Amino acid sequence: MSRALYPGSFDPITYGHLDIAKRARQIFDQLIVGVVANPNKKTLFTLEERKGLVERALQEEGLADVNVISYDGLLIECAKEQQAEAIIRGLRVNSDFDYEFQIALTNRDLDSGVESVFLMTSRDYVFLSSSIVKEIKLYGGDVDRFVPGVVEEALERKFRG
Ligand code: ADP
Repeated sequence: MSRALYPGSFDPITYGHLDIAKRARQIFDQLIVGVVANPNKKTLFTLEERKGLVERALQEEGLADVNVISYDGLLIECAKEQQAEAIIRGLRVNSDFDYEFQIALTNRDLDSGVESVFLMTSRDYVFLSSSIVKEIKLYGGDVDRFVPGVVEEALERKFRG
């Protein structure tokens, strides 16, 4: 059984993330989404909220067989613990590449047994990020093209109580 880990902050999960998860699931027998506990940026949603939204969004998208975990510390350690042979990351723009290249090479130095696999974003999601969604929603804009209903409701509660 091939198994991959798709890590991220998912603050919150968007259709861009879900598209990557869906496509990764077609390549690997098992997919685990890893929600990082302490990303190096401040999050809008707590770890439990981010994880809960990932679970519900995956369910809505027909990806209920994808496992969701949270992890703290080194990604490569999490991958080994989960016995994942690959780490999945999504690529949108040039700046993603520079960052991901560095991380992937470092992870290979730490453990050459875990391969980094990059999936190119879909045309519709090139400019989609969790930060853009938060910004649009903060100013009262419509985000239903970018995130599932459960995420939109959660954003609504965060910003408007
Ligand atoms: P991180 O803080 O680890 O980058 P994110 O939740 O921002 O966490 O992103 C997780 C992964 O999903 C990253 O590999 C990112 O490039 C990818 N990703 C995010 N949005 C998109 C998108 N619209 N299209 C493709 N990949 C995406």
